[in-house]
Amino acid sequence: MSDKLIIEDRYTALGIPHPDENSCDECEGTGYVPCQASELNEYACNSPKGRVVVVGQKEKDGTAMSDDGWLFLLCPICEGTRMKAQS
Ligand SMILES: [Zn+2]
Repeated sequence: MSDKLIIEDRYTALGIPHPDENSCDECEGTGYVPCQASELNEYACNSPKGRVVVVGQKEKDGTAMSDDGWLFLLCPICEGTRMKAQS
């Protein structure tokens, strides 16, 4: 048995590039964060502005996606800019 430990994160596992260092940590540079509908109020109350923006999801043909309990929010930290806040 090898004593080497190979650590694979989801980026290397899926072959997608890591977010760069200027990317927002909250949404990992995507501009959106997933949220359970049941957690929406708590999420909004804990966000910096006390509100969140829910993004509508459509199928390719334009019809609304069925409700599976998950929502996508515009990232409350970077507000969809995908960039880390400048400090
Ligand atoms: Zn963000």
